[in-house]
Amino acid sequence: MLRITIDGPAGAGKSTVARELAQLLGYTYLDTGAMYRALAFAALRDGIPADDEPALAALLVRLDLRFERGRIRLGDEDVADEIRAPAVDRIVSTVAAHPRVREAFVQRQRALAQDGGVVVDGRDAGTVVLPGAECKFFLTASLDARAARRHRELLSQGVRVALEDVRREMAERDALDEMRAVGALRVPEGALVVDTTGLSAAEVVQQLAAYCRERGA
Ligand code: C5P
Repeated sequence: MLRITIDGPAGAGKSTVARELAQLLGYTYLDTGAMYRALAFAALRDGIPADDEPALAALLVRLDLRFERGRIRLGDEDVADEIRAPAVDRIVSTVAAHPRVREAFVQRQRALAQDGGVVVDGRDAGTVVLPGAECKFFLTASLDARAARRHRELLSQGVRVALEDVRREMAERDALDEMRAVGALRVPEGALVVDTTGLSAAEVVQQLAAYCRERGA
């Protein structure tokens, strides 16, 4: 049972591909972005500012965060849809830049992945969480393609926003993710880089699955 990591910028198609690859291989899918998003969502709800590292670290300890049947929950509450809201998009990269927040989540992610048979998607999955993973991928795509994907996703959820705003906010989030001191977004050593511009999710899944099968998945 291998450990598979998929990193890359927002909108590169990581979550769809990671979920489908996990299903195809009979592995567990671990969406690390959902964990940072759930913390950002809880902070918004509790009125905790995104730059208050001690308060966020304390909130994280209190959160009863778990995954059930592929959906993230805070205690009894299913928050899988709420964490995708534009208000969460706006602050999540600031929340995720705090070293204390990252340390705590990385520890949980390693614990969840320790038995293998996992597909972990995020920004630092192959660099920090599981640098020894057997299969590492870095998915990327042009900013225009990524913004268009995210825009379609938001419209399908009934969120009406301008493509230009999605594009700008995505570029800002990428910059924050790439420049932070800890767990910055970069291509992991030994990762296969796949440009998904113009490819369907199914095509990307096939490519990744073939690579994993060559390595014993
Ligand atoms: O993957 P997703 O777009 O849902 O992630 C939301 C945000 O969470 C990212 O923009 C990034 O700031 C943060 N994140 C992170 N490390 C991860 C996964 C996500 O910092 N492993």
